[in-house]
Amino acid sequence: MSSEVSVPRVAVIGGGILGVSTAVHLLRAGASVLLLTERGLASEASGRSLSWLNSAGERSTPYHQLRIAGVDRYRTLFASDPARDWLRFDGGLMWNAAGQADATEARSAYERNRAYDSRLLTADRIAAATPGVDATAVPENAVFNPGEGWVSLPDLVDFLMAEFHSLGGELVLNAGKASVVVTDGRATGVELGSGAVHDADAVLVACGAATPAVVAPLGVEIPNGSPVSMLVITKPLEHDLEAVLNTPRAAMRPNPGNTLALDHDWYEADITGHADGTFSIPDEVVQELADEASKLLAGNPELKPASWKIGHKPIPGDGEPVLGELEKVPGCFVAFTHSGATLGLIAGELLAGEILTGNKHPMLATFRPERFA
Ligand SMILES: Cc1cc2nc3c(=O)[nH]c(=O)nc-3n(C[C@H](O)[C@H](O)[C@H](O)COP(=O)(O)OP(=O)(O)OC[C@H]3O[C@@H](n4cnc5c(N)ncnc54)[C@H](O)[C@@H]3O)c2cc1C
Repeated sequence: MSSEVSVPRVAVIGGGILGVSTAVHLLRAGASVLLLTERGLASEASGRSLSWLNSAGERSTPYHQLRIAGVDRYRTLFASDPARDWLRFDGGLMWNAAGQADATEARSAYERNRAYDSRLLTADRIAAATPGVDATAVPENAVFNPGEGWVSLPDLVDFLMAEFHSLGGELVLNAGKASVVVTDGRATGVELGSGAVHDADAVLVACGAATPAVVAPLGVEIPNGSPVSMLVITKPLEHDLEAVLNTPRAAMRPNPGNTLALDHDWYEADITGHADGTFSIPDEVVQELADEASKLLAGNPELKPASWKIGHKPIPGDGEPVLGELEKVPGCFVAFTHSGATLGLIAGELLAGEILTGNKHPMLATFRPERFA
């Protein structure tokens, strides 16, 4: 970005966690920010995410390091008010299906080799590690990761937007499908669905699963591996669950208001896509997920689905984040990633730095969009 620009103007397309987080980090650094989104804030993946904060399991070292930094930023936020009911660090518990005790053990050993806090537990030791779990649901062993947590992204977006407004950010809701305006090979602004154009010195495309489609007209190809997924929120109930559970038939975490958030992937084939872009699933399948989740909870309380949302889960084609400026279109940046909850704060921080200084952050080196070229 030119040093002659005293107050850089940045347009951010996409009102999910990545767009909102980057917008706030830009405002903190003194930029003028226009945030625009197709409909409402957190209307897509960020409004229906399990948002388990973790770097569990196996992945590339740079991705692991970025996720650890992501968890670190959430810990800082958590420490500023540990009483928030939408950001908790009470650990994560996972187990595999019966007969896979070796795989569970190997996962924990792999994690410990990376100095990731990982404890292999037999079923009888789970109650001492974390409350509210029916240990009879655990076939042989489980991995407890005490340093993990969860966040409710709609609450985090609300929290960040209060700062966005206090710092003078400009928000356009119901902007329709916006696009990047390019002049002489450089991004110079955004065009809203209405045709209105806003000039900017830099543009960030943070459109979740739609990111590849938004940059395609610029001649940039980013493979899209985003599957369709569902998140269920239960009706309120009394429960003691604190950890995030990842198990063969249900994933689950606490959610504000004494509710639970449920997720998995075994029912993907039961989801039907419609011509208007919406999705549906039979009520019985939603109840089946709730019944599977009930088996994981101490006392096996009946779980009643209150609402469920279905849509794409953003995942780049090779599974790794896509973060940074497009070499082909200077001034245009992208943020497209799986695990965008875990990365939400750190990605916003690092991207804002790159957008405003032009200095490429070393931790994003392997995540550049050009790797697909
Ligand atoms: C079921 C599920 C479970 C998940 N579990 C986890 C987890 O456990 N841990 C974890 O870290 N992550 C998890 N994720 C992933 C994480 O939630 C997402 O990576 C993150 O929310 C993505 O945020 P985003 O801002 O990139 O995209 P989104 O939240 O999808 O936001 C993109 C926004 O851009 C807008 N938009 C799109 N196109 C345009 C356009 N042309 N013009 C204007 N606006 C546009 C959309 O309307 C939307 O508001 C999960 C996701 C799902 C769906």
